[in-house]
Amino acid sequence: MNFRYRLMQFMYGRYGTDELTYALFIFAAILSFVNVFLRSLILQLIVYALVIYALFRVLSRNPEARRRENRFFKEKVRFVKKQKEIYENRKNDKLHVYKKCPDCKAVLRLPHRIGTHTTVCPRCGKEFKVKVRK
Ligand SMILES: [Zn+2]
Repeated sequence: MNFRYRLMQFMYGRYGTDELTYALFIFAAILSFVNVFLRSLILQLIVYALVIYALFRVLSRNPEARRRENRFFKEKVRFVKKQKEIYENRKNDKLHVYKKCPDCKAVLRLPHRIGTHTTVCPRCGKEFKVKVRK
């Protein structure tokens, strides 16, 4: 019996790797690298915990739960990417300013005119002052 075959037998019915596993290993590697300089015991324990959790997921015999964790992780990543995209778009939009309505918290896209203006929120109808500098 060669090693490859024995590994296949050992991994049979186990979950294996996914995006979350890779992320955990990469995150552990980064923390481990940072800890070369910091030499913190707590950070080292966090690295061990991440690696143990990643290994536990790889060897897990409950694929449904692992898939659920991975789906949750991917949703969070997608959400963060989307927020970043929104932030970048607003930063690059020089013709408008984005202000939050103090009442209903809706984000309004207003023309970029310097000074203090009064605006009406289209969602809740409340009037409020907007200050635009530079
Ligand atoms: Zn409003």
